[in-house]
Amino acid sequence: MTGEHDEIVVMGGGIAGLTTVLALRAAGIRARAYERAPVLRAAASGNGLVIWHNAVLALRAIGLDTHLDDIGAKLRRYRFRSRRGGGLADWSVEDGARRHGAPAYTVSRPALHRMLSELVGDDLVLGARCEDFAEDTDGVTVRFDDGREIRGPLLVGADGLRSTVRRRLMPYEPPPHYAKMTACQGTTRMPLDKVPAGVFVNTFGEGSWFVYYRLGDDSVYWDAVLNDRTSRRLGGSARSLGLGTREALLREFGHWPAPVPALIQATGEDEILPVDIYDRDPVERWSTDRVTLVGDAAQPMTFNLGQGANQAIEGAIVLAQCLSSAGDDTAAALAAYERRRIGRAVRIARRSRTNGVLSRRRNPVVCRSRDAFMRVAFDRLVYRKTYQLTMDTDVGDFPLHPRMSKSS
Ligand SMILES: Cc1cc2nc3c(=O)[nH]c(=O)nc-3n(C[C@H](O)[C@H](O)[C@H](O)COP(=O)(O)OP(=O)(O)OC[C@H]3O[C@@H](n4cnc5c(N)ncnc54)[C@H](O)[C@@H]3O)c2cc1C
Repeated sequence: MTGEHDEIVVMGGGIAGLTTVLALRAAGIRARAYERAPVLRAAASGNGLVIWHNAVLALRAIGLDTHLDDIGAKLRRYRFRSRRGGGLADWSVEDGARRHGAPAYTVSRPALHRMLSELVGDDLVLGARCEDFAEDTDGVTVRFDDGREIRGPLLVGADGLRSTVRRRLMPYEPPPHYAKMTACQGTTRMPLDKVPAGVFVNTFGEGSWFVYYRLGDDSVYWDAVLNDRTSRRLGGSARSLGLGTREALLREFGHWPAPVPALIQATGEDEILPVDIYDRDPVERWSTDRVTLVGDAAQPMTFNLGQGANQAIEGAIVLAQCLSSAGDDTAAALAAYERRRIGRAVRIARRSRTNGVLSRRRNPVVCRSRDAFMRVAFDRLVYRKTYQLTMDTDVGDFPLHPRMSKSS
């Protein structure tokens, strides 16, 4: 591994790291991503994702939004219902698309990851686990766990929730905060009439809820979410359920409205992946003069607003914009990036956490009040406020480098 001195070092080959390399390339800035995994393992967390209007606009800024037509399915409606039957709210995502100037897509995470890594090409090095780095006035020297070293003018930590780069920047920070939720994810195939295309359905119970939607390849992604108490009642520890997850899920969700039980039944035991949900308390800074963070490494958030990957994409584009407009003054560029990103990322992470606390409630009286509130006020209050907060991105115009222009 050589690493060239003028190449920005991006640590991590997830959605944040790969988008950062592509955004920097669009700005005419050389960068390379380093990923600890020896092969890309895209499915490890979240097999399905919603790429919302804000991230589509961000990808449009670097000419990549149209690739989503190849791998995703356009989302038309977002429905909330109670497990006792009956709708709670029904949002038109198509109206949102008109208002915000971009559609939203459901995509398979592996497909998105594959698309990004193919575009990145040789600027991704696998089997490179960052262990440490040292920053000086000219650049950053990064050391990998096998003793190899590279040097670059800047280091971008895109290494996820348990980021090594972040740990070196903030050695006294406590570990990520367990949000008392475990998401058991599955992907399966179902007849189209049982799970209509373009509709995201979120069904709320007491201490559990269930999400499902179709992906671009017509498979169905679902997510059975348990709070820590429900998880324990079903025989798991407070965290991930172990073996026998499908049977445990059928005990909880077996009598829920169709097609919830059928989705679980149609999914093989080894195709169900439990993932514990974490976030972090916000910090006031995440950069030095030559090191910064992006994606979950910068501000991890719970999945309750479906914005983690969307914010990772936005952050990557804004970072490249700041670096391309600041010339040689990289410290000023990183400070500008931080100013533009921290407030927005923190607001969304906080809203997401609050949303998670409400969703995982299990007291029947509290849940009935929540459902009643959703029936009468969700369309007006939450749709307007949360939708606006998350979708109103400030990504703005991007000075496309000639090599990346849409016509090339
Ligand atoms: C169940 C679930 C559902 C979700 N749904 C949505 C959704 O609908 N919409 C949405 O926007 N978000 C969603 N998210 C959140 C989203 O998955 C994350 O926010 C997003 O993947 C973050 O991307 P990232 O690249 O920052 O981090 P990661 O995906 O964690 O990537 C980090 C990469 O860095 C590598 N790495 C780590 N340490 C090192 C090291 N020391 N050296 C080198 N490489 C290293 C890792 O191997 C990994 O490949 C969901 C999450 C979950 C768990």
